[in-house]
Amino acid sequence: PEEQFAPDPTKKTLVVLGTGWGSVAFLKKLDTSNYNVIVISPRNYFLFTPLLPSCTTGNIEHRSIMEPVRQILRHKKAHAKFYEAEATRVDVEKKVIKITDNSDIKGKVHETEVPYDMLVVGVGAENATFGIPGVREHSCFLKEIRDAQAIRTKIMDCVETAAFKDQAPEEVDRLLHMVVVGGGPTGVEFAGELRDFFDDDIQKLIPDIAPRFKVTLIEALPNVLPMFSKQLIDYTESTFKEEHINILTKTMVKKVTDRTVEAEITGPDGKKSSITIPYGLLVWATGNTLRPIVKDLMAQIPAQKDSRRGLAVNEYLVVQGSRDIWAVGDCAVAGYAPTAQVASQEGAFLARLFNNMAKTQDLEQKIHDLSTGLNLKPGDTAAETQEIAGLEKQLRRIKDIKPFHYSHQGSLAYIGSEKAVADVAWLNGNVASGGKLTYLFWRSAYLSMCFSTRNRVLVALDWIKAKLYGRDISRE
Ligand code: FAD
Ligand code: NAD
Repeated sequence: PEEQFAPDPTKKTLVVLGTGWGSVAFLKKLDTSNYNVIVISPRNYFLFTPLLPSCTTGNIEHRSIMEPVRQILRHKKAHAKFYEAEATRVDVEKKVIKITDNSDIKGKVHETEVPYDMLVVGVGAENATFGIPGVREHSCFLKEIRDAQAIRTKIMDCVETAAFKDQAPEEVDRLLHMVVVGGGPTGVEFAGELRDFFDDDIQKLIPDIAPRFKVTLIEALPNVLPMFSKQLIDYTESTFKEEHINILTKTMVKKVTDRTVEAEITGPDGKKSSITIPYGLLVWATGNTLRPIVKDLMAQIPAQKDSRRGLAVNEYLVVQGSRDIWAVGDCAVAGYAPTAQVASQEGAFLARLFNNMAKTQDLEQKIHDLSTGLNLKPGDTAAETQEIAGLEKQLRRIKDIKPFHYSHQGSLAYIGSEKAVADVAWLNGNVASGGKLTYLFWRSAYLSMCFSTRNRVLVALDWIKAKLYGRDISRE
């Protein structure tokens, strides 16, 4: 049985970095029997990010939106190896990847190298801070499971500390002030979830402090959710007003301390003024920046010199100027927004490309064997010629792969109070809708998109549990 797991010397080694939306969509569709597949990621699971904001308040338990990657790989046609490690450097000359085990438990070997023939990079992106002082030290991000867990703990810590005996009123106000920086979908969805949590649960359980609870969303641009239509932006802003979520637009955060946010507001007359906002919890959601491994890879490839936001790829997702490297998702720049929708379509496209490449190689080998007479018996020539012609036709069809084309299915976001907004592609047009019905659509769409039936069942049960018994406010 060990032979089954040994690399096949006749096949190329295909290394896949990451276990996020792009890489997992790739692995799902890839025929693993064509390559020696090795997956490397510091995360041994896939994370369904669209429901991550719901984990911050316990509306959904975090394990319900995680799927172990080994479970995913188990169902593949041929064995694929997984190493839980961070790729720290890709050496494009030597075609090797340096990997490090960054987990708490390390063996005697915790750094090594993995050679590759072909490489698919799907490492995603990091949280952007724009070098603003204090952000890394004092705020929470919302990208990974551990971020959502940290936020959940901190919310309850703020609440319990605010309820502490003899707490001064201004300190209660500070502790119960939840500030969110970044009015993109992450910030908006989190602010909505937070308000729900207070209205549904904290109000009931700790009514004496609940009226002092406040959420402020800070956005540098003139409005939140810039990728949505004007109508839905207005709808979101008016819903937030009803939910008592304070929106500060045209407000750029400049500095963060352990208790305050310092920002610059541009008034209607264009005049700038400074404000200092005390906070209990600060969540930073200002979008993406490059991971160090991606920066380093770009620095090794002269053709990537002018690319700023990630690995510039061509219409077949080949990293421009590289040999045998492809990129998908948030680390790749293909002209689309950094979303799960784009990453998963790119991953699925690339898998078709890899499956086709393997078929092409097989056919070319067959044609070569036939035309060099390897399989030729005397008197067989006519049949062989016909077979070659048939194979060549098949080869042309397979080689004719259309470039990657992104098909936008629409944008969806939850905005609190059981309301959602949706800009959905419909019959060659666009339908914009917001409200409770859209919320039901949002729920059913995300439930159906969950990775596995197990995830779907767990998420549905979490929703039912939260509705029946309220969210669990125990602080872990
Ligand atoms: P990721 O999914 O981030 O995966 C990157 C993978 O690479 C991870 O497994 C990571 O552990 C691994 N990795 C990191 N560094 C290394 C390394 N050095 N070596 C090896 N592996 C590494 N998009 C939507 O379309 N719809 C939504 O509703 C939506 N909601 C979102 C909600 C939140 C809270 C967030 C944060 C994002 C949301 N997005 C949504 C955006 C979406 O999650 C990203 O665009 C998507 O995850 C990008 O996929 P990816 O595969 O490029 O990266
Ligand atoms: P984003 O890039 O969409 O938004 C970040 C916002 O922060 C911007 O509007 C920016 O103007 C603002 N900002 C930056 N610096 C600031 C500062 N110093 N002070 C105040 N505001 C500042 O980021 P995101 O919301 O994390 O989303 C990242 C990606 O993930 C996007 O492509 C998004 O579409 C996708 N996503 C989608 C969904 C969804 O579809 N429901 C949910 C979450 C994320």
